[in-house]
Amino acid sequence: MTPVVPPATRLLVCTLDACAWPLLQQLATAGRLPTIATLLARGARATLASTAEQLPDSAWASLCTGRNPAAFARYFPVQYDPVTGDLRCAGEHELTGSPFWTTLADAGLRVGVFDPPNPGPAPAADFLVAHWPLAGRRGPRGSSPPELLPALDRRFGRPAHGTLEPAPRSPRGRRALGARLIAAVELRGRVLEHLLTTRGWDVAVVGVGELHAAGHALWPADDGRDGGELAAVYVAVDALLGRLLELAGPDCLTLVVSAHGMGPPRAGSRDLQHMLDLLGFGPRPARRTDGRPPQEAGAAARLAALAPGALRRAAGRALPGRLRRELHFRWHAGRRDWVGWRAHAVPNDDAVGAIRLALRGRDRHGSIEPRQVPELLGELEQSLRELTDPASGRPVVRSLARPHELFAGPYTDALPDLTACWEYGFAWRAVHSPRFGTLPVGPRGDRAGDHTADAFLLAHGPGVAAGDELAGSSILDVAPTILAACGLPPPATCEGAPIQLAPAVAAAPA
Ligand SMILES: [Zn+2]
Repeated sequence: MTPVVPPATRLLVCTLDACAWPLLQQLATAGRLPTIATLLARGARATLASTAEQLPDSAWASLCTGRNPAAFARYFPVQYDPVTGDLRCAGEHELTGSPFWTTLADAGLRVGVFDPPNPGPAPAADFLVAHWPLAGRRGPRGSSPPELLPALDRRFGRPAHGTLEPAPRSPRGRRALGARLIAAVELRGRVLEHLLTTRGWDVAVVGVGELHAAGHALWPADDGRDGGELAAVYVAVDALLGRLLELAGPDCLTLVVSAHGMGPPRAGSRDLQHMLDLLGFGPRPARRTDGRPPQEAGAAARLAALAPGALRRAAGRALPGRLRRELHFRWHAGRRDWVGWRAHAVPNDDAVGAIRLALRGRDRHGSIEPRQVPELLGELEQSLRELTDPASGRPVVRSLARPHELFAGPYTDALPDLTACWEYGFAWRAVHSPRFGTLPVGPRGDRAGDHTADAFLLAHGPGVAAGDELAGSSILDVAPTILAACGLPPPATCEGAPIQLAPAVAAAPA
């Protein structure tokens, strides 16, 4: 096996959840992120293709396991079930597969994992802390060994912020949330300093979740107002990274990665079902819009926009199972009646619209024949490509994908048939179609920013060439790269290939 770098004495992997890659470079260039600036100048960088372009919720699971989204039973926390023709809640445990740290621990390396974006199944690590800040939608807090987390809580206290909070509506609220997130980053730093200096480790995997929470809640307005709080959280994370690099020492290979990014809020997904109705994919013939959402979908959309996530979850927990499922359905799908639809919208991350064909024999309400699929997909794609922002005339669909052709695995059949990644390069508030006219659309009201498909890798350490820009890799290549840096072959399930971080090493005779 060709080494990707000279064997590292130690490896530090930092996962910056939902870090905005363009913003990171911009702040580093402006001199505000000295650690990132050093990594960019003295290390290698790669922008990575990401499955967040189609199915953002499973992007971290894909990065940590090197497997495509069809390997996982879950593609979204509330997802379409073709057997019942209903929605079902999918748990974090359904993002199955061994993350790279399990393979490293199995090989006898001393591995420590702190608050990774996707903890995976039962750990085989020397220490693992899962969901450090707060139990929430993602999963329960916990550690291995079990006594570790209570001991850390007693010694350091717990961060005073939730994993995700709704966007504050006032400048004062923004300042308060910004301060809480910075305090959480600083507390994370103290806990990590304690762990990394008191426990022996060969590989440390360190998660940073505050940029994700900050991006959703503090993303600046279209005109750039109110950007100060978000930038300040990036500055705090940069200081944390600087301290981690110091602790790791000069012989440590450091990788900083993100499986997806953050950008302006996206409109589109919540009105996709209405667009499909206007286009004639529902029981009614195609028609022009009167510029208003239909009453039923409008009510559900207003409810979703009004009730912040935490409140919705709290209300949901208090209800019996049947009502909870009904609420989930209305929040995520708007309307229940899919009978007679040729194609309908299914829940997915707001940043990416998802469509399921009603295929006879596969979907409970299926009415179309397999031979009709190519033509129907073509018709849907053409209709979506035609959508533009009426203000600028620019297309609002960034990319289209057919997950059944793109991804292969045991759960391919459950995936949407078509995904549309909404444009995130500029803000838009309406869509225009030559077929149905202009329709105002709205992003959900509780988020200032939303996910993007921008993923990246920064590498720094012995043998890594300074200033190298590595092209053509994807998030599936990160796990094999980490394993190769430790001299290990990837497991058979891993689909990616190691990224050559040090070309000089690859060229040297074995
Ligand atoms: Zn998010």
